[in-house]
Amino acid sequence: MAKQTPMMQQYMQIKAQYQDAFLFFRLGDFYELFNEDATKAAQELEITLTSRDGGNIPMCGVPYHSSANYIKTLIEKGYKVAICEQVEDPKTAKGVVKREVVQLVTPGTVMEGAMLSEDENNYLASITPFNQQTYVVAYNDLTTGENSIALLEDGFDGVLSELFNRPVKEIIVPPMFDENHQKALQDRLGVTISKQEENTIPESFQSLVDNLQDDRLITGFGQLFNYIQDTQKRSLDHLKPVYQIQLKEYMTLDMYSKRNLELMETIRKQGKKGSLLWVLDKTVTSMGARTLKKWVERPLLRKESIEERYNQVEGFMEQFFERETLRESLKSVYDLERLAGRVAYGNVNARDLVQLKQSIGRIPEIKSLLASFDKPELKALSEQLQPLDEVHDLLEKAIMDTPPITVKEGGLIKDGYNGQLDDYRDAAKNGKQWIAQLEQKERQETGISKLKIGYNRVFGYYLEVTKANIHLLPDGRYERKQTLANAERYITPELKEKETLILEAQEKSVELEYDLFIEVRDQVKNFIRPLQILAEQISAIDVLQGFATVSEEYQYTRPSIVEEREVSIEKGRHPVVEKVMQNDTFVPNDVDMPEETDILLITGPNMSGKSTYMRQLALTAIMAQIGCFVPCEDARLPIFDQIFTRIGAADDLVSGQSTFMVEMLEAKHALTRATDKSLILLDEIGRGTSTYDGMALAQAIVEHIHNHIHAKTMFSTHYHELTALEEQLNHLKNVHVRAEEYEGRVVFLHQIQDGAADQSYGIHVAQLAELPEGLINRANEILAQLEGSSSEGNSSVQIKDLENEPDEQLSLFKEEPIPFKETKQPSERSTNQDQVLKQLSELDLLELNPIEAMNHLYTLQKQLKK
Ligand code: ADP
Repeated sequence: MAKQTPMMQQYMQIKAQYQDAFLFFRLGDFYELFNEDATKAAQELEITLTSRDGGNIPMCGVPYHSSANYIKTLIEKGYKVAICEQVEDPKTAKGVVKREVVQLVTPGTVMEGAMLSEDENNYLASITPFNQQTYVVAYNDLTTGENSIALLEDGFDGVLSELFNRPVKEIIVPPMFDENHQKALQDRLGVTISKQEENTIPESFQSLVDNLQDDRLITGFGQLFNYIQDTQKRSLDHLKPVYQIQLKEYMTLDMYSKRNLELMETIRKQGKKGSLLWVLDKTVTSMGARTLKKWVERPLLRKESIEERYNQVEGFMEQFFERETLRESLKSVYDLERLAGRVAYGNVNARDLVQLKQSIGRIPEIKSLLASFDKPELKALSEQLQPLDEVHDLLEKAIMDTPPITVKEGGLIKDGYNGQLDDYRDAAKNGKQWIAQLEQKERQETGISKLKIGYNRVFGYYLEVTKANIHLLPDGRYERKQTLANAERYITPELKEKETLILEAQEKSVELEYDLFIEVRDQVKNFIRPLQILAEQISAIDVLQGFATVSEEYQYTRPSIVEEREVSIEKGRHPVVEKVMQNDTFVPNDVDMPEETDILLITGPNMSGKSTYMRQLALTAIMAQIGCFVPCEDARLPIFDQIFTRIGAADDLVSGQSTFMVEMLEAKHALTRATDKSLILLDEIGRGTSTYDGMALAQAIVEHIHNHIHAKTMFSTHYHELTALEEQLNHLKNVHVRAEEYEGRVVFLHQIQDGAADQSYGIHVAQLAELPEGLINRANEILAQLEGSSSEGNSSVQIKDLENEPDEQLSLFKEEPIPFKETKQPSERSTNQDQVLKQLSELDLLELNPIEAMNHLYTLQKQLKK
């Protein structure tokens, strides 16, 4: 192999340290990529692949000036980009110009506006395992400076639930991290995974963790901070002290519930539209939008904090005009939080500073508007706001009102801010005036009225006379410089002298402007903390006014938080379904679960509204605990510590599990973690297996919750037989969704009523779905036969049988399989019966749906009767 050039040697050395990133290697005005990086980047970026060294080295490049877009594309695809710059002047360098990686851009550490979503945090998270149960999850948002950390003691499932749905773009794990867990993270969260070994807190970050007591938390942050330090390679003054998230202060929502309840995004389209967030988001600032997400993710548990929010929302609702004016003012507050971040990070431009000034300029107005509300809780918000007049005045005096984006070409600093700058500007201005006067004078003296003075970058200032007028010009008056097709250009020593003065003054003033800009930026940097506090306050105000706005728009009411375990909702609605349906067609329903009722067993046809009713309660509870009003006429609610759900078509393609397995996993989750303060929603449990299996499981689950957990539970089922449980279980109540049969067809009324449904209507629904008529008739025939045989006492689908064998039901939770009960000795069986038994034992129950199971049963029974 040919010997590598010194430059390629340098490249290889640097690349070796950044194996998992694209190395953008600066060569003149381009960033070049070589070898595998080049082949891959050419594909991902759709740019031309070339080669160097006679075709041996694949190569591609992107211009420095438009590199941001290319970097963005790679980052969005989950890659990392190492930016390698020339760190000495090529003109003075001896040998190969020295190059260094100055920044590693990764999905979790981007700072450029174009790569960020305004309404979403951009978290870099880190997971540090301590044992099978204990993990530390740390978060950093480089754009806002936020740092937070949580200790999780609920196994890796808990970690997944914690991270699920959060705007995490990259996760750092230690090198020896469990591979299955890593795969689960990638599959579930679709994020970039990075490794970090060093976990001792770097000196420069020490002060941020002063408030942490637990060594595990400090180690967790060490891992995160080392990664930030290694990738950013600069001082990060805007990072806030680490805030410890006390998970016990918030409602626990596991991954399944977050997904099933569609809090942030819908399951199918994975978009905001159709989610709870979509209904609730009436914020007008991007800081508010980000904060709303955080609130929805972590509903509160302390009654006082929840009621404080209610009071604030109520205050905003009581004074519509003041609230609307406040909304208008908030609209002109830019993203203070990220602007502060950019100031500290050093990538702020003068336009950002103008936005900062304008935003700070609104604070006094917002403060006095808040003071004009009657509610003391809003006046308190007003008092907390500290307008940063000093920063405002500085920016007002220093920075031009409409500066350019670039900070190196002048036009940033106002006249009067700095004497030296004014002098330079005067010099340049005077010089230009002198030139204008010279033009006048020369015109008069030569009598050439069309004589003019122009400027270009190559020749500087020149006098121009058209060919037609040249004869009027006295010989030797000027020195000829350039000949054009129909004009001559001249200079004079005097003109050149002035030119030097003007250009020097301009150059110096541009340089000085840049220095002054940096000085101003650094002065603003001293106010990072107050700016961050201001940003937090404004965000909360925005979320609260948003709650008031949405509550008013959809006529939500203030819930009463009760100490008892009572749920009582009058005319409750589902906030999302209601919004989607037009013309007030949503049918409101009550929820009546006094202290003594723990379980509502809901029956009713498919499509009648059972799962809507269940979700409605969960969403109402979440809205109540984040401090928003709720969709109903009256609500009395306890504070739920956790919500568990097993609802709807949650095929978990990601986990590779069967639907039934997912159903069981979700049920297990609820049954092992719920307390008497939790809310459990179980929709059609047991549907994924054969009828008996399913029904037995469903009943055992209901009994378990009833006897051992005492959580408020809504349990919908199509197993009619379960409604008999009401007689045995004191804390269970039957309700059903009303459906009427009209001319042989089912009509859904979506009304919840006490008592059990009188029939299943499954075939009616099949009819609505327009299955072939012949098939429907046949199904009715079979049903009649089945019902006939059941009433003769032959069917074992009888609840009584199950009731009388409580030990057997409980053993569903034991490891031992239930022994098969034989009614006759084998020797007494006929061949026919043996065949039936064989077929029965060969049935794969997990693969059957209830109808198929029924059909098999029917055939087997027919065979037995032969
Ligand atoms: P089930 O769980 O009984 O199969 P769903 O709760 O999925 O039924 O409801 C089916 C559809 O019925 C929903 O998509 C919705 O359009 C409509 N629906 C449900 N509840 C109501 C209601 N209270 N008012 C009006 N329409 C409703």
